[in-house]
Amino acid sequence: MKRFSYLVFLLTVLVCSCTSHDFTVREGRSVTLRGNYRNFSLKGEAFLSPDATGSILFHTDAKGESGYEVVLHNGPIDGTLKTGSLSSVRNLYRSLAADTTWFWFTVNVIGKNITIATENALLVCYTEPDAPYRIPAFAKRVLSEGKIAFQTSSGTIRFRNVVVTPWSDDMVSDVPAQDEQNDRIIRLQQQFFPVIDYHVHLKGGLTKEQAAQMSMAYGINYGVAPNAGEGGVGRMLADDDEVYAYYDEVKSLPFLCGVQGEGRRWTSTFSREALSIFDYLFTDAMTIRDQAGRITRLYHPEEVIRDGLTDEEYMDVIVDQTVKILTNEPADIYANPTYLPDDMQSRYDELWTDERINRVLDVLERYHIALEINPRYCIPSMKIIRMAKERGLHFTFGTNNVDANFGRLEYCLDAIEQCGLTADDIWFPSMSIRSTRPTVLY
Ligand SMILES: [Zn+2]
Repeated sequence: MKRFSYLVFLLTVLVCSCTSHDFTVREGRSVTLRGNYRNFSLKGEAFLSPDATGSILFHTDAKGESGYEVVLHNGPIDGTLKTGSLSSVRNLYRSLAADTTWFWFTVNVIGKNITIATENALLVCYTEPDAPYRIPAFAKRVLSEGKIAFQTSSGTIRFRNVVVTPWSDDMVSDVPAQDEQNDRIIRLQQQFFPVIDYHVHLKGGLTKEQAAQMSMAYGINYGVAPNAGEGGVGRMLADDDEVYAYYDEVKSLPFLCGVQGEGRRWTSTFSREALSIFDYLFTDAMTIRDQAGRITRLYHPEEVIRDGLTDEEYMDVIVDQTVKILTNEPADIYANPTYLPDDMQSRYDELWTDERINRVLDVLERYHIALEINPRYCIPSMKIIRMAKERGLHFTFGTNNVDANFGRLEYCLDAIEQCGLTADDIWFPSMSIRSTRPTVLY
């Protein structure tokens, strides 16, 4: 193995690509491999100083202005692009790598297909369509052929065992492309609007492999969450041991890792320590204690017993319970928000009066709880989303799928357009205050 050491004042260093290389790229510097590449496999290890940020450019020119950029940046889920992102095309928000620890990366280009992996996880599998959608700033972010360069914008990044293997120009990939001319997700990616579905369940036949494949194809980051507690649909975690076992299963997968408190007893069933290993925790108010103290799942019509209460009176029961749940159960996100039982849904706008909306938004504001925008039920209404935005509340997008057949956040994309949501309105786990909140058993 050939070893290179570089002086700090060198801006660009050309190295031979026929063997493996070790080098360090300091802040504001870059290293470019000798030669031009079209189809290739790039492998190596990286070591980032604390909070370092850098990237690997490929198919780029001497100035680093064309081609694609693979992000190198670890740390908390705070809205910044994370290691393995194909910047502005497939932005990722959770890093599987950590600072001050060596990790493997691989970047492959075969025909129109780009794959990016770190450690043993495939993070990006993107096929550039014949007519890629690019905003003017990224007009040159397309495949052609060109240089491979490593650059660091902050901190120091060390590389070792870097090897690039050129492949024949006529190799092609059969991974199909998405039509970007009619896709709203790529438009958000180009603007660095975080596209994350925080509420995906591996249930109804949806496997983790399938979820990863869908996430990469659609350009939507998935937050995968088990249900912890009782009474819900599908697999339920029953105790701390099951929580830890589940987490071990999913922590190295390319998803954000969440957990959903289910039923109304999860706060006493699970320890704070066990639940705190997840990136985020959410709950909903679809299971309430009704006017007679019965545990009632509002999505099971046969469990909704009115005891003669009118819609208005039963609505007050639901709102009281919602306020109680969000006040006492330290969740980060209010999921399936403002959900009503079947027989009340046609009166949604009438029953969710400003006063009732404000009672719920007050609690969200007080405890920094994010409001989920849910495309499965198309809730909350655009009016409520606007009222929440007006208060400066943060939002997540969350589907709550029942199986593998679910959409691409359509209602959330409508909300972005109709309510003027921006990237600053989106919630990230770095904003969580749940660890500072007491769990109140009520
Ligand atoms: Zn759910």
